[in-house]
Amino acid sequence: MLCSKCRRPAIIYQRYSGLHLCRNHFVADFQAKAKRAIRTHSWLLPGDSIAVALSGGKDSAALLCFLHGLVSERPDLRLFAVTIDEGISGYRDTAVPVKIAEKIGVKHHIFSFREEFGTTVDEIVGLRGDSLSCSYCGVLRRRLLNTAARKLGATRLALGLNLDDEAQSVLMNTLRGDVERLMRGDKHREGLVQRIKPFMYIPEREVALYAYLHVEGFATGRCPYAHNALRADVRSLLNDFAWRHPSTRHSLVRLGEELASLDIVRGSEPGVCPECGEICGEICRSCQMLSEVCRNED
Ligand code: SF4
Repeated sequence: MLCSKCRRPAIIYQRYSGLHLCRNHFVADFQAKAKRAIRTHSWLLPGDSIAVALSGGKDSAALLCFLHGLVSERPDLRLFAVTIDEGISGYRDTAVPVKIAEKIGVKHHIFSFREEFGTTVDEIVGLRGDSLSCSYCGVLRRRLLNTAARKLGATRLALGLNLDDEAQSVLMNTLRGDVERLMRGDKHREGLVQRIKPFMYIPEREVALYAYLHVEGFATGRCPYAHNALRADVRSLLNDFAWRHPSTRHSLVRLGEELASLDIVRGSEPGVCPECGEICGEICRSCQMLSEVCRNED
């Protein structure tokens, strides 16, 4: 197949746009989409300090590489990477993000569940069973990422979430009947470092290709607890549906944004947890989870 724009050999076919793209036109299209997302949301302002959540997987490695290129054209921005070590043996290997950050030439910091919470996901699974592993891991990782970014002086926390992740989240919130989350969307909340998601309109396979073309040695392993996430079911449902209806993911993300833009606040306004000082709803989920784990240890 030849590139729809220049007739060189194509490396990808975008079913949703009907375009075949060569390497140069794919990279140009990819970067234009990510820059447009940043511009549309006014995500980067002069003087911003960006912490990239770097797990070492394809999405975060691609994001660090893309933002590094952007920041080299924007000396008014500062960039560094943060890795959270959840303590999942055989999966989370901090040597991988260390090497990626070193190769790209970005300062890198590691924070661990062990140091921050005195426990790990493996230990929590040992105490509570593995069916809720992702609930614990997700809540505690979000909290630690925010704490780490704030401690390091970040004004933005960049996440490698792609179009597939975003569409899955909207569908998951719908299936759970979680109106509050659907209406809240990504609205900035006082006390949280502003999260930015430059790849939110780019399909996962294109982020993977961008990572493959630009970054060596990213992690490809699968978390041993991934089978527990509702997300895994939603992903396969959505993949199947989107194969027959290619614009489905874009439509879901648009729906999520439309709902959030209605500006209807559901549920209680966030407060500050008296235990940890982090922003929280009525109850601080992370402190509640940690106290459940501690109770089990007694
Ligand atoms: Fe954590 Fe679940 Fe993701 Fe594994 S699959 S890293 S347990 S959220």
